[in-house]
Amino acid sequence: MRKVPFFNYPELYLRDKNHYIKLIDGVLSRGAFILQKEVEDFEHQLAEYVGVKHAVGLADGTMAIYLALRAAGIGHGDEVIVSTHTFIATCSAIVAVGGKPVPVDCTEELMMDVNAAARAITSATKAIMPTQLNGRTMAMESLLGLAADNNLIVVEDSCQGLGSKYKNKMAGTFGLAGTYSFYPAKVLGAFGDAGALVTNDDGVAMAVRQMRDHGRDEHGIVRRWGINGRIDNLHAAILLHKLKYLDLAIAKRRELAETYHDKLVDLESLILPQKPNSDPAHFDTFQNYEIQAKRRDELQEYLKEHGIGTLRQWGGVMTHQFPDLGLESDAPYADNLSKQMLLLPMNDLLSADDVLYVCEKIRSFYGA
Ligand SMILES: *Cc1c(COP(=O)(O)O)cnc(C)c1O
Repeated sequence: MRKVPFFNYPELYLRDKNHYIKLIDGVLSRGAFILQKEVEDFEHQLAEYVGVKHAVGLADGTMAIYLALRAAGIGHGDEVIVSTHTFIATCSAIVAVGGKPVPVDCTEELMMDVNAAARAITSATKAIMPTQLNGRTMAMESLLGLAADNNLIVVEDSCQGLGSKYKNKMAGTFGLAGTYSFYPAKVLGAFGDAGALVTNDDGVAMAVRQMRDHGRDEHGIVRRWGINGRIDNLHAAILLHKLKYLDLAIAKRRELAETYHDKLVDLESLILPQKPNSDPAHFDTFQNYEIQAKRRDELQEYLKEHGIGTLRQWGGVMTHQFPDLGLESDAPYADNLSKQMLLLPMNDLLSADDVLYVCEKIRSFYGA
């Protein structure tokens, strides 16, 4: 039986193993462990790729959101509106700065429902943080308009958005700051945890640079309260190498997404993501290929029996649905979505035949 794992983690390393061994040996032999040249080089290359003034390498994506909120001055009692269809890290970063996450519903596009966001604004609302989900950048006009009308800071959780664009503008560049995660399964995946923050604001960049290094400035003088939020130099070296191939990896994902779309679009039991190029305003990277499926649980089981790995994003639970966290929200679309959403295998390690096999099995499940 053919096997299509959801993500082939060993292959991330093995496909270019000899190169990585040389690269790692070079960095480690120089003893270049913390905040060395590779971090600086990676930050420059990343800033150039995204088209921003500053990129700051950080320990992980959650750290990037946390430091973005701190640099934005979000603190005790401040409310931050988020889409409930996001990773819990979006909310936990808000809690970590002393703020209160306010999750709102999403739309069929799976992005924040801006009308629901408008209804959630109170006198305590300080910021709005859209999640650029699944490698798509939402149509930002209405959200930016709402933020401007209500004096709200915009920070993007673009941890899934690296390389995706709306009207030719990269995810992460629409607000005061944007965030990226280099978790292994992300489009730019490290061999462990890593992340980055991007901004065009000199003050934010300086504050985040200091905060990630215990509050120290370039002379080692402590200028503010900080934390250890640094990216490892070794990871920066690996990511610097992988960044060269990011556009190729994205192109591969878009090809596979097109195949999924063409082979599945006639199935009435499914709602699919937008086909690549179907809307010229959006450039999607397909960080994830998230479908909405009738009889989702049975479908997932059936695919598993045929060697196909799938995943329910966030374990199938929206942020407002964890009873222990008490983040209530009136989010009917997301409530229904949580019963139907499913991630199909999607990454640049897959072959076209893998995807054709997945489509064939989905079709046979629905008797098509
Ligand atoms: C991956 C991810 C994060 C956090 O990333 P880490 O690097 O794992 O901390 C935050 N938000 C979203 C939407 C993500 O997908």
